[in-house]
Amino acid sequence: MIELWTEAVRSIEPKVKPSHRDLWLRPIECLRLSEGKIVLRAPNRYHKEWFEDHFLPSILEDLQARSGRTYEVQFEIAEETAVRTPPPVAFPQPSIETRPVASKPSRDLDLRYTFDKFVVGPTNQFAHAAARMVAEAPASKWNPLFIYGGVGLGKTHLLHAVGQEIARQHPDWHIAFVTCERFVTDFIGSMMNQKRQGGVSLMEEFRTRYRETPDVLLVDDIQFLSNKDSSQDEFFHTFNALHHAHKQIVLTCDKLPGELPGLEDRLRSRFTWGLIAEVCHPDLETRVAILKRKAEIDQVELSDEVALYLGAHVKSNVRELEGALLRLAARASIEARPITKELAQETLQKFLASAPTGLTVEAIQREAAAYFDVKLHDLKGPKRHRAVAHPRMVAMYLARRLTSMSYPEIGSRFGGKDHSTVISAVRKIERLYAQDPSLRSVINTLESHLREP
Ligand code: ADP
Ligand code: MG
Repeated sequence: MIELWTEAVRSIEPKVKPSHRDLWLRPIECLRLSEGKIVLRAPNRYHKEWFEDHFLPSILEDLQARSGRTYEVQFEIAEETAVRTPPPVAFPQPSIETRPVASKPSRDLDLRYTFDKFVVGPTNQFAHAAARMVAEAPASKWNPLFIYGGVGLGKTHLLHAVGQEIARQHPDWHIAFVTCERFVTDFIGSMMNQKRQGGVSLMEEFRTRYRETPDVLLVDDIQFLSNKDSSQDEFFHTFNALHHAHKQIVLTCDKLPGELPGLEDRLRSRFTWGLIAEVCHPDLETRVAILKRKAEIDQVELSDEVALYLGAHVKSNVRELEGALLRLAARASIEARPITKELAQETLQKFLASAPTGLTVEAIQREAAAYFDVKLHDLKGPKRHRAVAHPRMVAMYLARRLTSMSYPEIGSRFGGKDHSTVISAVRKIERLYAQDPSLRSVINTLESHLREP
């Protein structure tokens, strides 16, 4: 009878993205199916809920069509029924005695960044779900979790949220949160001092701190390892020690592992061992929802009309969206005026005029030309072959997104091209952006160079 279930699941698989299929569908086990009753087993409660919301209805529909009857579904939660067995010991592990006593959640975790404050939309849904999964069942399956995407899109927020959720469920665990920059500075500091003092204690301390103490290691902005050979080497060993000991690792990055320059292959491959999840620019609806949520948290009175206005005009990223709301609220409070669309218009005019960082089309063109290795005058010129046309379209797209210029204005900066050329370039890149992760990564890289030159 269980085959009936298997067939029904198979029938919906073609409609499900492969990554979702592996993450959500495959781990659901059918224990029994008889007389209108199905018993399923999910790895944890969160998984069950996601599965019920997203997949179960279509599977049941198929099942009912096949068998001509309805079913009642029951769930068992693996986590709650299983007796926990310790992970297999594959490599020498630090003995329990030498482990420092676990402390409370890392003081470095930002209490504002929790799951319940994270607004989920189509462009971050997968990353959010993956982060929830990892927080529910650390080191059971997806290790490491690698979250990547452009600036200000919620990577750091998700990383802290994972840490806080694990800390809540395992109060005695040691959750280590560190920015990659801090890891590198710590490492170099320990190394230099060790040489100076001729002892080994600082380096040992460093290694205990990162390789032995953590039950979970969260590293923000791992791209900072690019071109830093000795730090990469150290991180490689840190990674291995924790991974072998079945400790969860979560990393964030502004690029895909494959696109990080100056990264050793062995690290690159490790970064892809687990699950890679992307955060993209939120759509209008999500931007508005984020604003409403943020206003609620900060107790700012924000009407739907004003939220929609802000959301429609501030598109670059969530950080700037929050910035715009903050400015608006500050101005309303200083001038003792209610938050109206007019006030938003006045405030935003200044904000958008300098948006996002006073970038000019010329700066974008220079950056794109350098990145794609084409000549600036070709980028602005009439040549149509792909080697030039593609970088040009990307530059036009960025100009439209990152400056407040109109299509005709942008066209004029590209050697007097017609506004319709700019529009079709922007549309084309928008379309590709949605489909092509490596293009997204290129655009994220260009954007982060432009914002933080
Ligand atoms: P990143 O690390 O990707 O550059 P952050 O995580 O620092 O971005 O996010 C920037 C700001 O935007 C933070 O204040 C964060 O709380 C907020 N933010 C980002 N995405 C969301 C979201 N989906 N819901 C609520 N707030 C968000
Ligand atoms: Mg960040």
